[in-house]
Amino acid sequence: MAVVFAGTTLKRRRVGMVADFCPICRRARECDLLRVGVAAHLYWISFGEGRLAGYEARCPECRVRWPIEHDMDPDRWCEQDGARARRSREGRERVQRFEAGRLTAEEREAMLEEPFLVLEPMVKEQGKYRQLNRTGTVAGLVTLGIGAVFLWGLKGGWGDRAPEPLAAALGIVWLAALFVTAWVVFGPLRWYRKEVVEPALVRALRPLEPTREELEALLRGFRLRGKLVAKLVTPARLHALLEAA
Ligand SMILES: [Zn+2]
Repeated sequence: MAVVFAGTTLKRRRVGMVADFCPICRRARECDLLRVGVAAHLYWISFGEGRLAGYEARCPECRVRWPIEHDMDPDRWCEQDGARARRSREGRERVQRFEAGRLTAEEREAMLEEPFLVLEPMVKEQGKYRQLNRTGTVAGLVTLGIGAVFLWGLKGGWGDRAPEPLAAALGIVWLAALFVTAWVVFGPLRWYRKEVVEPALVRALRPLEPTREELEALLRGFRLRGKLVAKLVTPARLHALLEAA
């Protein structure tokens, strides 16, 4: 059994609440405070919360996360620190100017760009699994091959010496490994686009009513800057979702 699919994975645990300004809902709110840990995994199964990598805030409504200062005193988690207070104030002021129709062209552009930039690290994290694509496919094929050998053994190919219960157990492990591999290789990004990325973009962009041309220019710019999120959504689809919302 030479195929061991292992590495590190990020593990999140909700450890409290934190007041922050959600850049997607564009409102100040009580967010979940998440501890982010780096843990070793074997076939994406890992134990423990991992080595501390930082903290994140997660909006309870849109479920989008963003990194926040992590060297905080646990007793002061619910209080606003300087950076978050400033972000909240600036965010609220910008929304007020938007509602009063007093946004400058630069401010409007910044508001259009912001949700993509907030989503980029989340998409990148999902994309990391995607980069395992080739490795995953090879591992899947090798796993399939090993499974075939054991199935052959189960059918009596090893004669009297074949331990059937063991072969059956290994067959089950093989099937499970295959499903996990298939999900990791083919599942997350498409699911992620539909369930997380597009709803968040629609929520943040709808009030601004961007034209299709604006979305095209925006996504072209992001693609040139190598942003993964721009590879995931197309201007046409995004515009259609905004129209339908
Ligand atoms: Zn939100």
